[in-house]
Amino acid sequence: MSEDTEETRNGGQGRAVTGGPSGDDRRVVIVGAGMAGVQTAVALREQGWPGTITLLGAEPHQPYDRPPLSKAVLLGKAEGSAFDVDFAALGIDLHLGRRVSGVRPAERLVHTDAGPVPYAHLVIATGAEPIALPGSEGVPGVHLLRTLDDAERLRPVLAGQHDIVVVGAGWIGAEFATAAREAGCSVTVVEAADRPLAGALPAEVAAHMVGWYADSGAVLRTGTRVAALEPGAVSLADGTRLPADAVVVGIGARPATGWLADSGIALGPDGSVLADGALRTSAPDVYAVGDCVSFPSARYGQRLLVHHWDNALQGPRTVAAHIVGGDAAHFTGPVYDPVPYFWSEQFGRFVQYAGHHTAADTMVWRGDPTSAAWSVCWLRDGSLIALLAVGRPRDLTQGRKLIEQGAHLDEARAADPSVPLKSAVR
Ligand SMILES: Cc1cc2nc3c(=O)[nH]c(=O)nc-3n(C[C@H](O)[C@H](O)[C@H](O)COP(=O)(O)OP(=O)(O)OC[C@H]3O[C@@H](n4cnc5c(N)ncnc54)[C@H](O)[C@@H]3O)c2cc1C
Repeated sequence: MSEDTEETRNGGQGRAVTGGPSGDDRRVVIVGAGMAGVQTAVALREQGWPGTITLLGAEPHQPYDRPPLSKAVLLGKAEGSAFDVDFAALGIDLHLGRRVSGVRPAERLVHTDAGPVPYAHLVIATGAEPIALPGSEGVPGVHLLRTLDDAERLRPVLAGQHDIVVVGAGWIGAEFATAAREAGCSVTVVEAADRPLAGALPAEVAAHMVGWYADSGAVLRTGTRVAALEPGAVSLADGTRLPADAVVVGIGARPATGWLADSGIALGPDGSVLADGALRTSAPDVYAVGDCVSFPSARYGQRLLVHHWDNALQGPRTVAAHIVGGDAAHFTGPVYDPVPYFWSEQFGRFVQYAGHHTAADTMVWRGDPTSAAWSVCWLRDGSLIALLAVGRPRDLTQGRKLIEQGAHLDEARAADPSVPLKSAVR
């Protein structure tokens, strides 16, 4: 077991991680104390891992959940979103404020700002970092929204009912705009593409979301690029100058894997750690999970990089199963090939999506997209492979199961919103 002292447990901020000689073949080190890192530690204990678990997180805060940051936490309706996990009781050595700067797989060591830490098994769970708008660094009043600190900086901006410009009409931009309107701010959303959610949904579907902005009182300017950010204003490429007490940039996120650059661990062109179906990386006994990793999906016939909460919940169970069972003879272990799922709360609507579709798949509408509740199914060779549900959570629950089963749907029945989706199976 661990040679760590009791005082290094549960928030040993600033102290060295002691003990754990390389010969400790039961020491799991997890880098990143977000959803995926915490869930990996918990899953290891749930699955009976008897050895040391060391969880290293760069942020100073008790590990917390991110979805509330663009919702209740932003609006001051919740103080925080710390995970309800008793790390000490689970024997998880949690080290906060501990940034890992590199890893040497040949020596089974990670380097931290407080010295090296040896591992027998390593789990990379460093998540993603938001992409900054070029030229925005150092401009006062420009914000990103990824961390609790970001949300805390934005709270008074909302409370002050300022003029806000949001750059990017993706999931984060839409949720932030929702909260800012609810707080009484004047909101303009600037989007370079011709529609919101251009990277996620086809034009026919996204077209029905445009009106949501106007209904909430936000101004959406699509097909518009930001030319320059300056204190108090945003200049657009078409010459418009928008007053802005604050600018929130939500133009995407990329895997936080810069610290792996010299490790020899294989990364993809998108910066994701390249893992196999067991979420194993190219280095022995090194796994990756959550927003930082891509994995091959036999279900969808391509490698997937998923930046959603459910992926950070499900992946850890696969990683834990492989670490716990890895030494057993003839162990094959589970393959990670989920039906991706996420939800978003925007403009008073509950939007959910399951699966993964391409432009070549057949779209089937369920219900009137100008109404408050409707869905869209995507079929491939008659099988349900993805579903978007707006205010129809039952469609999502049933659809997700049908996607997992590879169920074939009768198109006419699937298109009838009065027919439960599960009754549309052929
Ligand atoms: C504002 C917001 C709202 C969201 N809302 C939704 C939603 O409604 N629905 C949904 O499905 N998904 C949502 N998501 C996405 C979801 O929260 C993420 O998919 C999930 O948090 C990923 O978990 P993770 O542990 O992989 O990464 P993260 O949550 O990013 O955690 C990674 C952790 O690793 C730490 N770290 C990074 N580098 C290092 C290092 N070198 N050393 C040590 N520690 C390091 C980071 O500080 C961070 O705490 C939202 C995300 C955000 C930001």
